[in-house]
Amino acid sequence: MTEWIMHNEPLIRMGFFFGMLGLMALWEIAAPRRALTISKAVRWTNNLGLVFFNSLLVRLIFPAAAVGIAAFAAEQGWGIFNYHSVPFWLAVLVSVVAMDFIIYLQHVMVHAVPALWRLHRMHHADLDFDVTTGARFHPLEIILSLLIKFATIIVLGPPVVAVVIFEVVLNATAMFNHSNIRLPLGLDRVLRWLVVTPDMHRVHHSVEDDEANSNFGFNLPWWDRLLGTYRDQPRAGHEGMSIGIHKYRDPKQVAWIHGMLLLPFIGKVSEYAINRRTWSQPNED
Ligand SMILES: [Zn+2]
Ligand SMILES: [Zn+2]
Repeated sequence: MTEWIMHNEPLIRMGFFFGMLGLMALWEIAAPRRALTISKAVRWTNNLGLVFFNSLLVRLIFPAAAVGIAAFAAEQGWGIFNYHSVPFWLAVLVSVVAMDFIIYLQHVMVHAVPALWRLHRMHHADLDFDVTTGARFHPLEIILSLLIKFATIIVLGPPVVAVVIFEVVLNATAMFNHSNIRLPLGLDRVLRWLVVTPDMHRVHHSVEDDEANSNFGFNLPWWDRLLGTYRDQPRAGHEGMSIGIHKYRDPKQVAWIHGMLLLPFIGKVSEYAINRRTWSQPNED
């Protein structure tokens, strides 16, 4: 089983990625939440072009991937779940939830640390919010995420299956909760107790500092509620709110790949640190 998963992991992930992308794209056409400011052709070419570039880069730098690290940790007997014998289902469940919590903490960290915000702001600079936003991250942030994930796996020792489940689920929920779809409000209210919904995560993409400093969860919505970063709705409403970063509104800079790749390197690091109003001010205005 583990062997089969290890062997087919890239295919499993790709299958889920394209399946979910197609599904959400059709849903966005059938029931859109907001009108886009940048054409779909430009958004898809550049955001997905970047995803393609990132995938190649990651394969090149880290051919073993997260499942490889999990298998290696198991062989060596490293990590909590390889050291203690715990029922398999419990190890899988706790691993998936724990990895999601680490992603939440990492997300708070990349907002709070000015130099890391430079990498993460490329995700936020998107002027619209749709399924392709969910996959657009700067390659340096992807590498940082992977290193944190590898460290988590070595400490935790999760079953290989848990890592695959986590990656597939996180990928699917990220595309779901970034999508430009209109969900019935009643359904959203119930659903956001179980999973981060598009209306919940859209608040995080607001140009307003306090709104962007809330709803850090990508998958499970509980961390925001437990740790005090939950915000119900944007003040200006979902149709009236502005998405992106005040300072970066030029499509050349925020919608085209070359501009996006350069975004972390604009301006001085210290200049930003001085301008910070609160510990976690992410949006420069
Ligand atoms: Zn963010
Ligand atoms: Zn996001």
